[in-house]
Amino acid sequence: HAPLGLHLRAVALNSTHVAVEAADVTESHRLARVRRDFVANVSHELRTPIGALQLLAEALLDATQMPEAAPEAQSEDLLAARRFAERIHHESARMGRLVNELLELTRLQDAEPLPDPEPVSLDWVIAEVIDRTRTTSSAKGIEITYDGPKGVMAYGNDSQIATAVTNLVENAIAYSGEDTKVSITLRHSDDWLEIDVADQGIGIAPQDVERVFERFYRADQARSRSTGGTGLGLAIVKHIATNHGGRVDVTSSLGDGSTFTLRLPARPPESPSSSPTAIEI
Ligand code: ADP
Repeated sequence: HAPLGLHLRAVALNSTHVAVEAADVTESHRLARVRRDFVANVSHELRTPIGALQLLAEALLDATQMPEAAPEAQSEDLLAARRFAERIHHESARMGRLVNELLELTRLQDAEPLPDPEPVSLDWVIAEVIDRTRTTSSAKGIEITYDGPKGVMAYGNDSQIATAVTNLVENAIAYSGEDTKVSITLRHSDDWLEIDVADQGIGIAPQDVERVFERFYRADQARSRSTGGTGLGLAIVKHIATNHGGRVDVTSSLGDGSTFTLRLPARPPESPSSSPTAIEI
């Protein structure tokens, strides 16, 4: 059958009445899907050549490295070649991150709503993230602290929640100076679990605060710093938060640091049998 372009949604009003909402959404869904598939395919195809560029740049770096020779004994040409190789390496690594994050974003959009939410131990996820980011944090002398109760459970996908917290912590490190502190705090109320990631970094100007969650948006201060950012990290965090029925917010003051808050529901989502069903015809 040709699709009619109608999306019917049965919404339970009470135990005996059901309302049916109808909307012509098939075409817009189809277009969104075509766009996502295109981005996913292009990103996927770009991975191989970018990976090759990275390997070649590494080989060039090795070839132009002469640790036994004093810098003044190295020829100008060799030093210039090494500088170019470093630059190619840096830029190809950045392109690699960009295509990986684009793929991640399209995957997240395809995984809506979240399939089979599972209990996720938040203090465990946070400990993992602190461990995973230790190399970058200690390279800048940044201390990461955690304060919160143990055994608190969120409901959803552990690797998505870990990605969201990782992106917030990596940003806190990237946009902070040396020997500063990043503090992660977990709070728990009846309805919500809140993870704060607070830094003492460069902060965000008032005109940028609302926009940092948009895809590819980078504040001026960030653009002028060579953090190798892609502008997709916070868009990914926002998607993950929304997928989990939560949200992400920021308060910041320029020059003084920022606090990002990831808020997740403290209760498991309703089982699918009691939630509205969508039927596409
Ligand atoms: P990027 O790859 O540029 O870090 P994100 O989507 O993660 O992309 O962040 C978008 C922008 O938000 C950043 O470019 C930066 O301007 C701002 N930003 C994010 N986190 C912080 C932070 N902790 N402190 C200051 N600015 C931040």
